[in-house]
Parts: sequence; C-alpha cells; structure tokens
Amino acid sequence: TTSQPEFDTVIKRRKTRPVKVADVTIGGGYPVVVQSMINEDTMDIDGSVAAIRRLHEIGCEIVRVTVPSVGHAKAVGEIKQKLRETYQDVPLVADVHHNGMKIALEVAKYVDKVRINPGLYVFEKPRPDRSEFTQSEFDEIGEKIRETLEPLVVSLRDQGKAMRIGVNHGSLAERMLFTYGDTPEGMVESAIEFLRICESLDYRNLVISLKASRVPVMIAAYRLMAKRMDELGMDYPLHLGVTEAGDGEYGRIKSTAGIATLLADGIGDTIRVSLTEAPEKEIPVCYSILQALGLRKTMVEYVACPSCGRTLFNLEEVLHKVREATKHLTGLDIAVMGCIVNGPGEMADADYGYVGKQPGYISLYRGREEIKKVPESQGVEELINLIKADGRWVDP
Ligand code: SF4
Repeated sequence: TTSQPEFDTVIKRRKTRPVKVADVTIGGGYPVVVQSMINEDTMDIDGSVAAIRRLHEIGCEIVRVTVPSVGHAKAVGEIKQKLRETYQDVPLVADVHHNGMKIALEVAKYVDKVRINPGLYVFEKPRPDRSEFTQSEFDEIGEKIRETLEPLVVSLRDQGKAMRIGVNHGSLAERMLFTYGDTPEGMVESAIEFLRICESLDYRNLVISLKASRVPVMIAAYRLMAKRMDELGMDYPLHLGVTEAGDGEYGRIKSTAGIATLLADGIGDTIRVSLTEAPEKEIPVCYSILQALGLRKTMVEYVACPSCGRTLFNLEEVLHKVREATKHLTGLDIAVMGCIVNGPGEMADADYGYVGKQPGYISLYRGREEIKKVPESQGVEELINLIKADGRWVDP
C-alpha cells in the first residue's frame, strides 16, 4: 500500500479557557462568537435599546456600547433594564475608552463585560528623546497601573464578569512604543503586562484583542500573542478584528483576509467585522466567514459553477431563484451546475444538485444519484418537491 500524506480538513482550534459573558461562552471549544457594536449615542436609551435588539435578532450574540462618561455608564444601566423588560437580557460589553476608573466601575455594575484599552493607561512623563524605558521604570509604571486597575479587576472578579484587554496598534503607550517600536511585539507586551496584573489578583475571565487597521500587522500580532501565551502557559481566548476596514466590497475582503487567515490557523474565539456601514451589515459577513471555514453552519451552502460556453441555462438567474426558494433551510448543501461534464463529484458532495442536462431540461440529483430529468421551467419547483419528499423541507 502507498502511504498518503495526511491533510486535516477540519480546523483545529487553539485550546482556550471558557470565558462567560452572561449566557454566552467565548473560548473553551465553544462555537466562535459573533459580535458587533451599536453606533447610537448611549444617552439615547430608546434608540440604543432598539439598536441592540435589531442586532441581537439577526444573530449578534454580544453587543458593545460605548461609555465615555459616568452619565453614559448610568444610561447603560437603564438600557439593560429596558432590554429585560421589553425584549430579553442581551449580553452587553461596555467600551471604556478612557483611563476613567470611575466610569468603568460604574458601568461594571450593569454590563457583562468591560473592554479597556491598555494604551490609555499612561503614567510616563513625556520623553522627547524617545529612548527606551528601563526595567525599573517599567516596574514603577506597572505598579501605578496595577493600583489604578485593581478596583475594576476586583469588581469584575467578584461579580463573575468578564473583561477584554483590547490593545489597538494605533494607541500604544509610550513605554511600549519607545521600547518595542510600533510593532506587533509592542502590542503583545502591552497585553501581557495587563494580563499579569489580572492574574496576580486571581482574575482570569479575560479575552484579548490586538486590532490593527493593517492586515499583516494584525495577523502578526495575534500569531505572536498565541505563541507567547503558549510559552507562558496562558490560555486566554482571542477576539479578532481588523479596525477601520472601511466599507463595501474592500472592507469585507480586508476584514475577511485578517480574520479568516487567523481562524484557519485555529486562532480566534470571537470575531467582529468593523464596517463603515450600519452594524447590521457586519453580522452576515461574520457568519459567512465562519460558514466558509466550516466553523459554524448557519445557512445553506451553495455550490455553483462559474458557468461557461457549455452552460445550458442562465446560471445566475437560476442560482438566484434557487437561493430565494431555499435560503431559510439550514444545514443543507445545494449545487447549481451548468452541466455535468465533469461528473457529479464536481458538486462537492452537495445534498442536492440542479444540473443542466440538455437544452430546456435539467436533472435533479440527491447526492451523486441522478433522480429525475425535468423541464427547466419546473426545475426549482421540482427541487423543492424533492427536498419535501425527503422530509428535509421546512416552511419559511
Ligand atoms: Fe461549464 Fe459545465 Fe463546468 Fe459549469 S459545470 S463551468 S457549465 S463545464
């Protein structure tokens, strides 16, 4: 017998600890969690409640809100309450984009997770010569950060809530910048400095992010973080994202390039696609990335040939019709192929196939088996009948 090289076609995810955000679990082998952020002013309680609900209803499992002041923090308490009364309890994250401990402590009472940015905990004196910081200077500043952070860590720890240490490439503290440069290493060290403080306080409900707007920087930072954590025996889940990805097709491709590359490496436990569009637009992109990688199956997987001179019907039109008729069915793979020239194997073992047979006729397949030839005009209807006969149909 000849030995065949083994290729694993299932992504092996990096082992991480489970971190609970209300009833959603990030890491620990749980499905990759989809999240997004509303762009309403948090002071607009009704507007925020409606926006959170809209996102949650289409599959956003954790919703982030921005909290720039203590007034906003109190408003989050009202938002949470109103959600419970009028809809349901949605896992919420507060983005505290300031070294504002009062804000963070206030909002920690209401939300399930608080996001902080280490780059904003700045205690260093201005350093015009941009020289490196010594270890003792690091230690001294580290002690000040620890004192500042401790009340929040203790509060979240005692409430069983989570925290995200969210490093951004664009906002590294000077000691990191002058010592490691504007590099993935600086981002990683910044996260580790905060992780160590949390661990010393026996707090481990932590998620890490290292976002950058440049995809290669972001990929390098997450890969380095995973490696460093392995070396240090840390197993915190990672939140993936490309910041400022922009909009439209390129924004989606840029986000996917960064997020999917890491997920394929097994890195990443929760994702956010940041688009300069309504946040609702981000959710289908997240689910499509996860579905394409085989990490979560939440919709029908369509296999379709690109069409060519052999195509026996208007493929674009038929694919559209098939999709419209079947997109509510989850867990099915449906192939639409212009002809069968290369055999049913080309349909990637789809559950059902709609295949050009001869002019005016198509064939329906169940797996690799040809079931029947029907006039093209009845193709979609007959496909639905076949799925129904197999007991795999549900009404939309
Ligand atoms: Fe062309 Fe047939 Fe291949 Fe489609 S399946 S691209 S129609 S040869």
